[in-house]
Amino acid sequence: MARSKYRVLAGLMRNERRSLPELIELQNRKLRRLVEHAYEHVPLYRRLFQQAAVRPAEIQSAADLEKLPVIDKTLLRAQPLDDLLDRRIGREALIEKHTSGSSGSPFRFFVDPSFDTWCKAQYLRPYITNGRTPFDRVLHFTAFPGAKPRRWFERIGLMRERTIGSSLPVETLLTELCEQHVDIVQGYPSVLAGLAAAVERNKPEYRKPRLVFTDSELLTDSVRMQIGRAFGVPVLDVFGAYETDNIGYECSQHSGYHLAIDCVAAEFVRNGKAVAPGEEGHLVCTVLDNYAMPLIRYNLDDIAAASPDPCACGRGLPLMSVIEGRMVDRAVLPDGSKVSPMQFLGKLDSIGELALEYQITQTALHEFRVTLVPRRELNMADRERVAHIIRQQHENARVIVLETGEIARDASGKRRTFISEI
Ligand SMILES: [Zn+2]
Repeated sequence: MARSKYRVLAGLMRNERRSLPELIELQNRKLRRLVEHAYEHVPLYRRLFQQAAVRPAEIQSAADLEKLPVIDKTLLRAQPLDDLLDRRIGREALIEKHTSGSSGSPFRFFVDPSFDTWCKAQYLRPYITNGRTPFDRVLHFTAFPGAKPRRWFERIGLMRERTIGSSLPVETLLTELCEQHVDIVQGYPSVLAGLAAAVERNKPEYRKPRLVFTDSELLTDSVRMQIGRAFGVPVLDVFGAYETDNIGYECSQHSGYHLAIDCVAAEFVRNGKAVAPGEEGHLVCTVLDNYAMPLIRYNLDDIAAASPDPCACGRGLPLMSVIEGRMVDRAVLPDGSKVSPMQFLGKLDSIGELALEYQITQTALHEFRVTLVPRRELNMADRERVAHIIRQQHENARVIVLETGEIARDASGKRRTFISEI
């Protein structure tokens, strides 16, 4: 049964006005239906349920999901593909999707046309709820600039979105910004930070956007401030993954990310167990509308925490804080323990007046390379200040400070702020 993206979107927007208990009731209903379906029709889940000695009827709410194991890409990749899919559907009826590989762990998965439509609506909600209207012109810097022909509603001036390759030189991005006269700018934090620096440097004449959105990378406080300052509006960050689409977004209160519990059942998990609100854990999601290839207790490899407090904006969707997106590279301390690179990055944010952009590479256990795009010529004291910040976290580390004109981006056009080579 085909459903319209805008009808789904209207339903999602109505959910924003529902209370938290109503949303939890909706989530439980969807979860029970999905679990029943996965057990009946998807061989992997039949097996996982049996191994855990759990019957579908024992999963009545998200809290019951703990009875099942957490799964991840590694486990799914090791299965025959047919075991992951609703066995009644031919593969030719499904749409194949890929993660970008920027996480260092590419993964392909399948959706049916109905969930594909659902995702397109889910994708739009964070922007619509924050004030994007059908009449706005959007300039979107992305690793995947689409070459889609303009659709009829774009030709009459509705839902206009221009996508530009994020790995193009910043001068090209700046020219687009100046020529397009857009209402909304959207892109990765690192790309918009580069553009913000170019705006501050060149002070061009251009129409200021009304809204600025970031996505796909961790937004540090200094980058948020830099982008906000250059464009003159606060940044709104959106959080999502390929497998879930957009599931978290800021509102104008900036108190955290509203969690789309009408689309996913999210858990914050350490060692297989849910942690208390406010405590950080792996973000584990059950995707409530993907029936072709269900993902139940799927570890997204992000670190986040549930926020116990409601948002002042009045939305019923609860809040979470994202501690660390794409938990790929970890810093290694002298004792061998691995920690979040935010320990380093958070402190380095204080060198904002020295550098426009920076990247830290841990090249060996006791060696770091800090590459930065300086705002002015660096002297010995500046370099020592950078080295000192690293040594505060990693005693006696050898720190090499390099200056560059531009930080290289990876194949998908994102700039990685922390890289571990060990
Ligand atoms: Zn809010």
